[in-house]
Amino acid sequence: MLKIRFLELYYKKNCSRFYYYNRLNLKYPTFLKFASYFCSMIEDKNQQRTPLSELGEFGLIDHLTKQFNIKQESTIKGIGDDAAVLNFNTNNTVISTDLLIEGVHFDLSYMPLKHLGYKAIIVNLSDIYAMNAEATQVTVSIAVSNRFTLEALEELYEGIALAAKIYNVDVVGGDTTSSTSGLVISVTALGSVDAKNEVYRNGAKSNDLLVVTGDLGAAYMGLQVLEREKEVFKVNSNNQPDLDGYTYLIERQLKPEARKDIRQLLKDLDVKPSSMIDVSDGLSSEIIHLCKQSDTGCDLYEDKIPLDPQVISTCEEFNIDSTTVALNGGEDYELLFTVSQDDFPKIKANPNFSIIGYMKEASAGVNLVTRADTQIPLKAQGWKNFED
Ligand code: ADP
Ligand code: MG
Repeated sequence: MLKIRFLELYYKKNCSRFYYYNRLNLKYPTFLKFASYFCSMIEDKNQQRTPLSELGEFGLIDHLTKQFNIKQESTIKGIGDDAAVLNFNTNNTVISTDLLIEGVHFDLSYMPLKHLGYKAIIVNLSDIYAMNAEATQVTVSIAVSNRFTLEALEELYEGIALAAKIYNVDVVGGDTTSSTSGLVISVTALGSVDAKNEVYRNGAKSNDLLVVTGDLGAAYMGLQVLEREKEVFKVNSNNQPDLDGYTYLIERQLKPEARKDIRQLLKDLDVKPSSMIDVSDGLSSEIIHLCKQSDTGCDLYEDKIPLDPQVISTCEEFNIDSTTVALNGGEDYELLFTVSQDDFPKIKANPNFSIIGYMKEASAGVNLVTRADTQIPLKAQGWKNFED
């Protein structure tokens, strides 16, 4: 069983370190807490493998959902009836859905089910935050084959419950069905926003500043590291994955976070973006989305793109261009937005934000201004390197 063993071995080898660092509480507190938790789970895990047929559909739904309680005022009725009932009073409701398919969107050989459950929620919440809304509820639908046991689904739902707890959203429903092959997860996230605070993709104006939160490319490089270690493991299963020095990258790949904090931060700074989108497919295609929908052009400055030092060093090691990774890697779940130049003083010194470019007239096109001061048109996909 290469699949499960690969990551289990990684965790087992590192468990004592995870526990130690977690107690010290110095770096990556969320990742370490999570990793420690995962460790305690695989250590304690009795080898029980309960087939889903033992519970039946309703028994399974009850079992998986009994842990969810209601925290949001707007949730009137959660799981258990034919439909959930919500009340957002005078606010607008925002809704977003994502579908995740095994083999297409995730690979269980380096994605423990708990991480997957967590990530499935995060990617949806990120879309809600990109509307400048507060995320309030999610529904979770799953299709599973008989390859999965009750214990596996419990693990998936532990990740879902953890994300729901950290992000303060209620799990208010879903659907459960069987699949003939892999695992399918669909999450719908709901949120609430005062109409005057909504931010769409189409509001950017020429001369607006282009701003991104956090840093880019780490999740993609995390995936490259995991892929490499998986290949090493395939050749010789005694080879332990060596993931030292890549902690931030692995964290960003396996346990991404959504920028719940940005909405409040912008509010406190009294800044309303003119347009916003979350960075799920890579900076390049998100910028193109903003420009297309806003009917603008853009100059993106290569030297302004925020990169973590681990991304830079790992790109060097893998001989990949770090700008390419930031532009096309994806899965960063940062927020990309535009603001009027008048807001520059409010955001310029904030460590959460990097000003990476300017919006221009549509006729100027969407360009990367390189370190060598040449202009290269941005492409949504297939943009490989400067020679292209
Ligand atoms: P129905 O037959 O009306 O579709 P179900 O028996 O499928 O109802 O679901 C019963 C309740 O459990 C509903 O409130 C539904 O939203 C919820 N539910 C079903 N599957 C899931 C799931 N995978 N995760 C969370 N809630 C679920
Ligand atoms: Mg149903």
